[in-house]
Amino acid sequence: MVAPIVIVGAGQAAVSFASRHIRLDNQAELHLIGDEPVAPYHRPPLSKKYMSGELDQERLLIRPRHWYPEQGITTHFGTRIISIDRDTKQLEASDGEKFEYDNLVLCTGSSPRTLPADIGGNLAGVNTLRNIADVAVIAPEFKSGRSLLIIGGGYIGLEIAAVARKLGLEVTLLEMAERILQRVAAAETSDFFRRLHRTHGVNIRESTQLTRLLGESGHVHGAELTTGEAIQADLVLVGIGISPNTELAELAGLDCDNGIVVNQKCQTSDPHIYAAGDCASFERNGARIRLESVQNAADQGDLVARIIAGEDSSYTALPWFWSDQYDCKLQIAGLNIGYTQTVLRAGVKPEGQSVWYYRDDRLIAVDAMNDPLAYAMGRKIISSGLHPTPQQIADPSVDLKSLAK
Ligand SMILES: Cc1cc2nc3c(=O)[nH]c(=O)nc-3n(C[C@H](O)[C@H](O)[C@H](O)COP(=O)(O)OP(=O)(O)OC[C@H]3O[C@@H](n4cnc5c(N)ncnc54)[C@H](O)[C@@H]3O)c2cc1C
Repeated sequence: MVAPIVIVGAGQAAVSFASRHIRLDNQAELHLIGDEPVAPYHRPPLSKKYMSGELDQERLLIRPRHWYPEQGITTHFGTRIISIDRDTKQLEASDGEKFEYDNLVLCTGSSPRTLPADIGGNLAGVNTLRNIADVAVIAPEFKSGRSLLIIGGGYIGLEIAAVARKLGLEVTLLEMAERILQRVAAAETSDFFRRLHRTHGVNIRESTQLTRLLGESGHVHGAELTTGEAIQADLVLVGIGISPNTELAELAGLDCDNGIVVNQKCQTSDPHIYAAGDCASFERNGARIRLESVQNAADQGDLVARIIAGEDSSYTALPWFWSDQYDCKLQIAGLNIGYTQTVLRAGVKPEGQSVWYYRDDRLIAVDAMNDPLAYAMGRKIISSGLHPTPQQIADPSVDLKSLAK
């Protein structure tokens, strides 16, 4: 009998692994273990159409429930793995159940950062958003006329702001940095989204920090800012970033550095253990990075299945990402890390534009807002290793298609 492959963490990377494993006709038995009591689902709609009630739970599933047994995959949903014994190649679950593996794939994802309890982080009405269970708590509270305070101006905070405005809540968003999206995007992209949200009535407060949340009978009712100002809040959503779920790997003595350290084959410091998705940290262009996106999780999960099946391959995929806010679609291709210059290009439609990132004279990434052509051509240009000049990109009379050849 071929020894089993076990996946810990039943999310995006795990399903991608399983899908490829089946297509490769790998005869090894596959066990999928996840601590959430539901089949793997798409997380992006949680802060978009699922939160606003426009998408039901069935449509959130990455694969229908019956797909797993039909494909011969043994699932263990609602099961949390608490330790890995690398000598005996055994896993232990919190209920004491043991699982043996020959190859182990860690797809444990990440967890939202929370606010400390001493500044009100534990008050009722203060939430983070990662899981379907979080939406079950938050969505019923999203009632017209209530006031929502969002801490953090990253993509999740901004997407939630858009949903909340659509449902008629009063929204204030606090960002301690000088501008929203500062960690992930150029000033031109921040400017675009600031304008968009202000037009929709979101009170965006940049360079503004929270001192503490104010509670009454254990429930949040407001916040005090470092300016001394007090603001009202019936609900608080904390969107201040995520941390990779590395506890299991750390306990097992695997190398970790802002994520489970993997090589270009997604192999950890133990050759029988792989990691993929939000929890994995890998080298790209000389820097160690971790990506928090569907593309990265799906591509890495897929790669690990091919590597275990004996393929000689490595992770080189061009990153891409998207975000939906109101009627605006943001699409990103490439990685803007270390950019030295940006170029703004007007879109074909008046509400569209794109921001192109250069590191010296090399084009490395593009943010396209309501501009699918800029995204598609940017992706093609960057993956082909072409480097049009900033002047060509900025000139709206230059056809992007001609630059992609
Ligand atoms: C609200 C929201 C909106 C998003 N929007 C976008 C978007 O628009 N575009 C985009 O590209 N990306 C988006 N993302 C990010 C994207 O969803 C993630 O990058 C992707 O889900 C990562 O997949 P993963 O398989 O690494 O982890 P996950 O999908 O998080 O799966 C990990 C699973 O492992 C489980 N687990 C962890 N530890 C254990 C253990 N010890 N035992 C058992 N199970 C365990 C976790 O509970 C979880 O179910 C969004 C994420 C969120 C939360």
